Amino acid sequence: MSSFSRPYVDIMAWNDGVTGSCKLGVIKFPNGKTVRFVLDCGLFQEREFEELNHKLPFRPENIDFTLITHVHVDHIGRLPFMAKKGYSNRIYASEPTCKLLPVALGDSYKVLSSFAKRKNEKCLYTEDDVSKINSLLQPCEYGKTFSPIDNVKVTFLKNGHLIGAAVILVQICYPGCDNINLLFTGDYNSKNIFFNVPKIPKWVRELPITIVQESTYGYMDSTEVRKCFKKNIKKCMDNQGIALVLVFSLGRAQEILYKLRKMQEEGKLDEHIPIYFDGKLAILYTNMYLNEELGIKPEMLDFLPKNLIFVNGGENRKSIMEDDNPKIIVSTSGMGTYGPAQTYIPEYIARKNTLIHFTGYTAEGTLGYKLKNAEQDGIIEIRGVYIKKRAQVEYTSEDSAHAKADQIIKFLQQFTNVKLILFDHGTNDSKKTIAERAAREVEAKHIGILGRQYCFRVDSYGLVKTLSTKFE
Ligand SMILES: [Zn+2]
Repeated sequence: MSSFSRPYVDIMAWNDGVTGSCKLGVIKFPNGKTVRFVLDCGLFQEREFEELNHKLPFRPENIDFTLITHVHVDHIGRLPFMAKKGYSNRIYASEPTCKLLPVALGDSYKVLSSFAKRKNEKCLYTEDDVSKINSLLQPCEYGKTFSPIDNVKVTFLKNGHLIGAAVILVQICYPGCDNINLLFTGDYNSKNIFFNVPKIPKWVRELPITIVQESTYGYMDSTEVRKCFKKNIKKCMDNQGIALVLVFSLGRAQEILYKLRKMQEEGKLDEHIPIYFDGKLAILYTNMYLNEELGIKPEMLDFLPKNLIFVNGGENRKSIMEDDNPKIIVSTSGMGTYGPAQTYIPEYIARKNTLIHFTGYTAEGTLGYKLKNAEQDGIIEIRGVYIKKRAQVEYTSEDSAHAKADQIIKFLQQFTNVKLILFDHGTNDSKKTIAERAAREVEAKHIGILGRQYCFRVDSYGLVKTLSTKFE
């Protein structure tokens, strides 16, 4: 006989920053049974945490099931590593995510293996491990509750962060006991221009609930977001300049193409100016938006701007750079470190009358971060080459797919019986700022910060206790 009468769950997270997202839930039942689940298993991309990629703080063969919130690499990039270390159970994700995930992992493998080769190291996992993960995928319909294992129910709810993204409700049930309700927001946004995002259903909002809430922008209100993209592009084109726009392959790339199209329709952008679109994966995803039934609103299927040219390979790229006529180049990667950006940035950073525009988060250690913080006319070193920064470098988070602090608070306020809020997926400062604000503005019994320092034991009444995590 066990010494407790109702189930509890320990919730742990392995990241202190905004990458390497991975949570573990260890459920203990009064009958002595233990169930372990993993929610996301992402790659660490911030340099200070990179070495953590080679460690898994749990034994994958003991995990009963895995849930995926969305296909960003910082949420899925280490799934193949889990397979390599013995994981062989099911992986549940939304239907669009199941279509996108093999593409995302295939690309991530290419990046990692070429990086490993350069450093003369072994890659974190093999292509076989990627195939193994693809074979474990289990598509889930939004809004439909299913049971991955006895005494656990899961519901995927739509999330505007990215096509296929989900807010995931996990309910732990036991005869004679109230359910433990856990809601994981993943990266969260309440809306998306490409698909409709319904409100969280009433039955979920009324549950006695523990919410694990992301807080990437927990330090900043939506009113503080500088909207400058259209203005900057227009000014650059009016001056007969060249604009290099850095985008993430999935989501941001398609949104920027749509924005340029809107500018053309509004008469803010001359339709004759060519728009080059570069990045294999971004082109592939764009084709999937058009052809793969990912749940895009029918009226948004026609989103490409006029005079859009898909760039095909290095030769093409060279001739684009040799031509000095006004043009817009939309290229990956979003932080400037990978993909064709590696060719364009060293060329264009040294040119006057050129705009380099980042359209998303640029993590510390990336080229985007470096360019943004370098002084105008200062010298920048890019892969051993010293270059003068003459181009105008701009940055905007106006298209960011994360809720800002005020929107996070509004999201939390719609729940009527919050037992515990755990903030995760943000810098420590961001998590602290939003936690203090939520303590003032949200009705919740307890508020905590989930990270490498503490894990939390939760039952149907909410917080049981805080435990120290014991990671290396
Ligand atoms: Zn994300």
